[in-house]
Amino acid sequence: MLRKNRLFTPGPTPLLPAAQMAMATFAMHHRTAEFRALYSQVLADLKEFIGTTNDVLVLSSSGTGAMEGAISNLTSPGDKVLVLTAGKFGERWRDLAKAFGSAVETVSVPYGETFSLDDIKQKLTPEVRCVYVQSTESSTGARHDVEAIAQAVRNAGHDTLLIVDAITGLGTTRFDVDGWGIDIIIGGSQKALMVPPGLAYCAVSERAWKRMESAKSPRYYFDFRKERKAAAKGESSYTPATSLFAGLAAALDYIREMGAGNLTRGRDLLIRNAELAAEMTRAGAQALGLKLFAATSPAAALTAITAPDGVDSSTIVKQCRESFSAVVANGQGEMKGKLFRIAHLGYYDYLDTIGILAALEQVMVSVGGKVEYGSAVRAAQEVYEGGAGI
Ligand SMILES: *Cc1c(COP(=O)(O)O)cnc(C)c1O
Repeated sequence: MLRKNRLFTPGPTPLLPAAQMAMATFAMHHRTAEFRALYSQVLADLKEFIGTTNDVLVLSSSGTGAMEGAISNLTSPGDKVLVLTAGKFGERWRDLAKAFGSAVETVSVPYGETFSLDDIKQKLTPEVRCVYVQSTESSTGARHDVEAIAQAVRNAGHDTLLIVDAITGLGTTRFDVDGWGIDIIIGGSQKALMVPPGLAYCAVSERAWKRMESAKSPRYYFDFRKERKAAAKGESSYTPATSLFAGLAAALDYIREMGAGNLTRGRDLLIRNAELAAEMTRAGAQALGLKLFAATSPAAALTAITAPDGVDSSTIVKQCRESFSAVVANGQGEMKGKLFRIAHLGYYDYLDTIGILAALEQVMVSVGGKVEYGSAVRAAQEVYEGGAGI
């Protein structure tokens, strides 16, 4: 049959057609009044999307650029920082902090799991300057309880900053950034916001701005204080990825339209959309006898599914691509061959969700599984029936 290329990867995700159109025709210079207006509008909309009154920055880089900035701007070499790690992205925090000379403590749990709050509380000593965590660990499909972690950090009563990599969390998870006291929260354009890779964004608290006055790690391109000054004038310090801003503005407009003119409501519906797609996918996978990799705390951003005994997940990934042009993600690092990941963040609808499950049924047959056709699809339809109305 004819095959349409479809991304089911947790970044990059499918592009919003309106964003693609906006980018294709965009040719503004970045030091003009029109671009300043666009830039300022995107920053204001992102504030609403994140749900914060803190200042928002947009950086022309992949998400990791903002992660690096959240280390270099907040620490001095030798500072003690606590990294909560449960997967490849947690390990990225650890490696970044080490690269800038931090004394890194970790709370680490096996891939697929999430943290015990007691383990975190024990390590929250007064010397810990910053805590770094993911909201959703995209390598394992696990969701971490940011609200409880934030509460533990604030209750410890020290001057400890909390930095959350919510690159797949924003647009799939509810946050009360200001209420919980998240000092930096980070997102990326190629995830729930439905535009190509190339922009990272973050919201920065007053506590974090204050820390930057004394933090001595080297920084240049990702100097947040410099960016803040430029952003107040509707500019970025260097040449921004201009066409991506046009795409991002269109995506934020689309989310606002989802909410009938209310961006916050549109964002909540986008989250609900991901939650429902994730729930349908989990039910479908389980109906095929497959195990969820992060069963105790599954994220709405993506579902990681363990390959059945004797089957390499690379084969499943390859079959999805070759037979149906459906790009699902393999496991990363040590998890390669053991699991595969299906994304729900951003521009996914009912037909995408049902379609990938139907394809998965065929693929499981092709790798020798015993599958009753329709079982995954049916389980997902039943979930949909219960959660419909969105
Ligand atoms: C995608 C992602 C990142 C950022 O990766 P980049 O390739 O730098 O955009 C970081 N953390 C998580 C949890 C992610 O899913």
